[in-house]
Amino acid sequence: MSLTARFSCLSDYDPDALSVEQARAFIRSQLTPVRTQERVALRSALGRVLASDVIAPFNVPVHDNSAMDGYALRHADLAGSGETRLRVIGTALAGKVFAGSVGTAECVRIMTGALPPAGCDTVVIQEVVKLDGDQVIVPAGQRAGQNIRLAGEDLAAGKPALAAGRLIRPAELGLMASLGCAEVSVYRRLRVAFFSTGDELCSIGTPLADGEIYDSNRYTIFGMLTRLGCEVLDLGVVGDDPATLEAAFRDAAAAADVVITSGGVSVGEADFVKPLMAQLGEVLFWKIAMKPGRPMAFGRLGSRGGGGDGGDGGDEHAAWLFGLPGNPVAVMAAFYQFVRDALQALMGADPLPGVPLLPAVSSVAMKKAPGRTEFQRGVLGHADGKWSVRPAGAQGSGVLRSMSEANCFIVLEHERGSVAVGDAVHVQLFDGLV
Ligand code: AMP
Ligand code: MG
Repeated sequence: MSLTARFSCLSDYDPDALSVEQARAFIRSQLTPVRTQERVALRSALGRVLASDVIAPFNVPVHDNSAMDGYALRHADLAGSGETRLRVIGTALAGKVFAGSVGTAECVRIMTGALPPAGCDTVVIQEVVKLDGDQVIVPAGQRAGQNIRLAGEDLAAGKPALAAGRLIRPAELGLMASLGCAEVSVYRRLRVAFFSTGDELCSIGTPLADGEIYDSNRYTIFGMLTRLGCEVLDLGVVGDDPATLEAAFRDAAAAADVVITSGGVSVGEADFVKPLMAQLGEVLFWKIAMKPGRPMAFGRLGSRGGGGDGGDGGDEHAAWLFGLPGNPVAVMAAFYQFVRDALQALMGADPLPGVPLLPAVSSVAMKKAPGRTEFQRGVLGHADGKWSVRPAGAQGSGVLRSMSEANCFIVLEHERGSVAVGDAVHVQLFDGLV
């Protein structure tokens, strides 16, 4: 089915007034993840998506072991009330098993991670015992089994330790290492081709001619894609000329899973790009009710000409297209609100690690009309016991400086009106901890 046909099922679809949520949901509903897998060395799996479940081949921990430094003993030896004297007959260290056996009224000094000797079922922490020569005096109130980590309590043998679809972060690397995995199966990396459009654009390394500006979008896009772990293909600057543009779109679609462009989707320029797109696949031109980032194109490009239904169902290679606006901040806002999610879905990440909306107090008034979602660049800070946020300087959609000085988006929702000092707003943090 064509993209337009799929849309016609939606009652409230209006390409000239799509809400951020509608656009995001529609894009999401179209995507199917890449399925090609490859085996990579554990460290190379960082940032990739797990392609098959990791089953624990053995228990983690492998053996019962002590959670604390203290004394391993037989709980049955302890007096019901009052103190108990036990003789210390040796030491159990992590990695050095105490081979002897522990008899009645005996105990063993034990370190964290060491295996409790045969018969010992309880560890008493060293801080609560009194030493008396080769004996320890253990106070009452010790619980049977305390301070012992049981075999398999972290990961049970034969059970999935990690499910396919998991984005691999440092914790997952460590977890797989604890299972002895030297290699893991991950989905192949997404190949994303991108280029900038505009006769005014000059690439760095060349002096600017009259009326030219340096192309910055290719650098923000490169950065955003690289952070997401994509394989990037920079196709440079393409002028506003139908023949060159067509060739660039064809090359990009043939080489990549996803094509990202910037510029050329604003009202005037779209009129010239639209017929070209109709030749190459199926691309929808949207005006999204958001600021910045209003115009955007989304669709499917076939690598062959006259792309019929845009590759849907055919065995020809086809690539997803995101035609982002030209303004540098609009590019970044649209990328983070739509493309990031889409790329993670295509990478096979499940569930999608969405960006949370966190509450903060606005320290300034902000003008806003209901009927569109605004993404202001904000500076979130902690003062007087609360998190408060203010816009980061001039908010023009061309002012990259505001993006650079910000640490969050202030998300002013669709229906919301102006914000007064002290009002609660939502923010999306630029940086996560992990
Ligand atoms: P457009 O969407 O092509 O009409 O571009 C909107 C604005 O963004 C214009 O001022 C362009 O000069 C600017 N712009 C477009 N592409 C880039 C780019 N790659 N780098 C920096 N500015 C750009
Ligand atoms: Mg342009």
